Formats: sequence, C-alpha cells, structure tokens
Amino acid sequence: MSLSLELYRSRSRYLAAKAVGGRIPGALAGPIAPLRLVNRDEPRTPAAGWVRVRPRLAGICGSDLATLSGQSSFYFSPLVSMPFVPGHEVVGELLDDVAPAPDPGPDAPASRRDGLAAGTRVVLDPVLSCGARGVGPCRWCAEGQRSRCDRVTVGHVSPGLQTGYCADTGGGWGRRLVAHRDQLHAIPDTLPDKRAVLVEPLACAVHSVRRAGIEPGQSVVVVGAGTVGLFTLLALRSLTQAASVTVVAKHDRQRELAAAFGATDVVAPDRAVNALRRSSRAFLLHPERGTDFLLGGVDVAFEATGASSGLDLALRTVRAGGRVVLAGLPGARADLTPVWYRELELVGAYASGQSPERVSDFDTAIAMATEAPLDGVVSATYPLQRWREAIDHAFAAGRLGALKVTFAPQEE
Ligand SMILES: [Zn+2]
Ligand SMILES: [Zn+2]
Repeated sequence: MSLSLELYRSRSRYLAAKAVGGRIPGALAGPIAPLRLVNRDEPRTPAAGWVRVRPRLAGICGSDLATLSGQSSFYFSPLVSMPFVPGHEVVGELLDDVAPAPDPGPDAPASRRDGLAAGTRVVLDPVLSCGARGVGPCRWCAEGQRSRCDRVTVGHVSPGLQTGYCADTGGGWGRRLVAHRDQLHAIPDTLPDKRAVLVEPLACAVHSVRRAGIEPGQSVVVVGAGTVGLFTLLALRSLTQAASVTVVAKHDRQRELAAAFGATDVVAPDRAVNALRRSSRAFLLHPERGTDFLLGGVDVAFEATGASSGLDLALRTVRAGGRVVLAGLPGARADLTPVWYRELELVGAYASGQSPERVSDFDTAIAMATEAPLDGVVSATYPLQRWREAIDHAFAAGRLGALKVTFAPQEE
C-alpha cells in the first residue's frame, strides 16, 4: 500500500468549492476539499518501458489549485480519470532499471539509448502521450511535440492528459508513482531537490516563450508574478533579446523577485496600463465600464495570473497585430473585443516541447534550474499528513510572500 493524497469526484464538494472559490481562507483545505489522505494499492507498471518512481519532492501548481477549487473548465472532464493522485511537478528516484528504448532513433537522448539505473534521480515530464500509452505515434508525437498528443485517452493507462490526472499512474502527492521511459529525465548530482522540483514549471515557461516567437528588440509585458510569471521572465531573459520586459506584480515579494530576475520595470496591476502607455508612447482610452486600454502598446503579452482580469489587461495593452500568450490555465472569461478590433494573435502554450533544433525544453530547464537565482523559490515543504496546511499555504502564497509550496511525500 502507498500513502497518497487522492482527488475524488464529489458533486456536493465540487459545487461548494466552486461557490467559495479561493475567497474564504481555509475553506478549500477544510471540510469541502474533494481531497483525502488514503492508503492506495501501489500503482502497477502497465507494460514494458514503465518503472516505479519514489517521489522526493512534488510541487503544488496553480492548475492543481484550480482543480481543487472547481475553477477549472468542464472541458477537462473527459481528459482525466478519477480518483487520481495529483502532483505533476516531481523530482524522484527510480526504483527499477529503465531499459534502453527499442527504437531510440538517431538523435535520442542518452537515457533512451542506454537506459537508466535504479536509484537515479529524475524529473518527470508529466504528459502521458502515445509512447507511454503503447499506441503508434500520432502526428504530434512523431514530430516530438508530445504535449499536443491526440491519444491521451487510450492505450495502456486510463484517460489522463498528464501524470497527476490519471487514475492508474499515481502522482507526485503520493509515495509511489509509475512512469514511462519517455517521461523521465535524469538530473545531475549538482542539482538539489529544491531546484529540481522547479524543472517542470521551468520547462513550461521555456515552451511558452518559444511559442511567443519574440524578435530582438521587442517589448514584452508579463501579467502576473507567481511561479508562471516569474519563470516566464527568467526564460525571456535567457532565451530572447527582448528590449524590455515589464512585469505586473501584486505582492511585495513578487516585486523583489521580478526585479532580481531581470524585469525592466515592475508595476502594480492598477498602474499597469498607465506605465505601459508611457513606455510604449501609446494613447490611453477610458471605456464607460471596464479596464482602460491602449491604442499602441507592447509587442507581446504573457497572461500568467489565471484570472480573467489578467487576460483583460494583456488584451488591452498589446499593440495592433501583437501577440497574447496564455502561459497558464486561463480564467473563465475575458472580453475578446480587442482580439478582433486590434487583430491580435491569441497563442496557447500548454506543457513543454522542444526547440526547432530538437533540444528538449526539459534539458533547457535543467540547465536553467542549475544556474538561475532560485534559492528560496521553494518557500515551504510539507509531509502529506499536513496537506490542509500545505493547500492553504499555496492558495495564499502571493499574499504570504511565498512562491512554490511543495510536498515531501516520504516524510512523516
Ligand atoms: Zn503545472
Ligand atoms: Zn501522440
């Protein structure tokens, strides 16, 4: 048996959680959470190429909080299988040897050619695509763009877009999970667990910056300065030659980190439109209702708050013909009028992929996790038994000056 946090289907708890949202502190980690600590059967390896992994640290992601609070869309319901163990940001160690891939291909990473030994520390690419599911590759998997896989509901394991949303694999918020060779990336001894657990969200940030296609000299705004926003900023600074990156941050600690990570300017949400008007020499307009907007504005905006207000701000401060990247799970609603009138490009960025030169975003993220000033980004670590405190802490992270809250699933 394996101690795990399990997310289960409960209509009454779902409705209660959705009604309260994140508004009442403590409520979502209390009696209405559709989460429970249980002893589950250890997840079984469904086929060759799968191994057991012992999670050492697992992050709490904004998408986990949206799922817990009933804020995520019903769109996801056929893409998950219940009950599941959440946790898709994972550093762990292998309990089994990983055999070499039968068909590694000419530019496969060493781990696919040579396999990996039990005991190796790894980070998990959570996407459960064709290879893991034992079905022939869809067009996207054949191109190495596994995050776009069309077959995430079929094959060896139950539906689930990722580990952490699939009933069969276990997840990072438990003491065991199983993973397929395609999901595993070995990490160097020099990368401590507290940095390694950030590799998955860093890989997502690398992917969304690649999706943005930023040209040298362009101006950028990042709306939101939680983990998604700050890691987007790090990726922008390491992968692009953007002339300026303005970060919209709500809380003091977020402002400090944004400055430390290389923001050109850091502004509060209620000052953002005005600050961007000045820096881009745009015209400011005041609608009868709703947020002010610009004619003129920045070249590219990243929405990294997950709130409708964040997307509104991004859409209203990008120049005509500019691009707005959805860097995280988007909020429920936004006014799309500027997309039409300003002929904006709205670009999604889900999970991770690879560069045009076929360098995995995970490899880029492992290098960033080693070099970037990330000490203190993991603000707190909890054993599974203290999950209510952990979830509370994660919900209030910005206000409490915290960034990433994690579980140490093997600790008591
Ligand atoms: Zn995530
Ligand atoms: Zn596929």
